[in-house]
Amino acid sequence: MRTACVFTREDDILKTAGRINAFTGALVAEREPLDAWYLGDEKEGAAETARCVAGIGTAVRCPLDSGTLPENMLDNLEALYRERQPELLIFTAGSGALAARLAARIGGTCLTGCRTLGRDAEGLWVRRTVYNSHADAVCRPQGRPLVLSVSKAGPVSESSVGESEQAAITEVSPVLKHYGYCLDRKLKGSREKNPLEEAKLVLVGGRGLGSRENYERLKRLARAWGGACGCTRAAAINGWADVADIIGQSGHVIRAELCITLGVSGAAPFMAGLENVKNLVAVNSDPDAPVFKGADYGLAGDALEVLEAWEKQAEEQRHEN
Ligand SMILES: Cc1cc2nc3c(=O)[nH]c(=O)nc-3n(C[C@H](O)[C@H](O)[C@H](O)COP(=O)(O)OP(=O)(O)OC[C@H]3O[C@@H](n4cnc5c(N)ncnc54)[C@H](O)[C@@H]3O)c2cc1C
Repeated sequence: MRTACVFTREDDILKTAGRINAFTGALVAEREPLDAWYLGDEKEGAAETARCVAGIGTAVRCPLDSGTLPENMLDNLEALYRERQPELLIFTAGSGALAARLAARIGGTCLTGCRTLGRDAEGLWVRRTVYNSHADAVCRPQGRPLVLSVSKAGPVSESSVGESEQAAITEVSPVLKHYGYCLDRKLKGSREKNPLEEAKLVLVGGRGLGSRENYERLKRLARAWGGACGCTRAAAINGWADVADIIGQSGHVIRAELCITLGVSGAAPFMAGLENVKNLVAVNSDPDAPVFKGADYGLAGDALEVLEAWEKQAEEQRHEN
């Protein structure tokens, strides 16, 4: 099966190569022909990528500068596809949109967020992330050409950088059609990183806190303890907390050393946000609340009493210091 791995100029070469190597391992083991297509302006990029990805036989570079529109990238990918006709195209993590758009242009089948590629008696199978990356599914893609993009979530293996013979690079001339608009400038993402994503300690307030005032108290306590404060969707819907602080399937997946939930039932969409938490402590007045099933420590009691006790303790500590 002729395969092309597509690299765009934004890729971090070593990380990308590690992911692609892990992903294409099964093909390389079967000595399938692998091409590298590199769209970008860094002269050395193609060579470097081709050297780090195992099994690359042919490397093609299409020099596109940083002002190139996605449409122009797609024109060039489509031209490369028409010329070389690979059955399988593999895009790097972060290029899922390009992959989907190319598949639509060439009448292919597209799967994004792919983690593992394998082959058995029934043909190719792909393991990919589903439900906003909270679960994986195994798919059997039937259509060809097959266009896949690799998931950021893995398979990541920095050590799996290959030791390919350096592939000779063919340079192709880019096609640059006019699309009625041009890139004026690229703006850096202005979104500030939410402290929840990095915090070692996270306190979470749920509907059981009962009011906006109590959620504000929890936020102050989190600050006093040097942590961050998040909420459930129910708390945000009630207007007590900011939607940007929702934890769970529709919000942040946190990786705190310690997470303490107060007045949170532990619904599955919320718990999905805690999968990387090391220690979970839950406070809930209902001893049968589902949250206790996933908790390392549980306190069946009134969240407001607990909050008050911790506030006192924090205040005492503040005076001592
Ligand atoms: C597609 C979809 C995506 C979703 N995504 C998310 C998401 O990302 N994040 C999220 O949080 N939710 C999400 N939800 C909603 C989720 O299913 C729950 O409705 C939500 O998590 C419930 O929030 P809660 O635990 O604060 O409220 P509730 O479920 O109402 O729980 C409140 C808890 O507080 C306890 N309690 C009450 N009073 C006290 C007290 N005084 N002291 C101690 N405990 C008390 C109760 O026993 C109860 O267990 C999603 C739902 C859907 C359908």
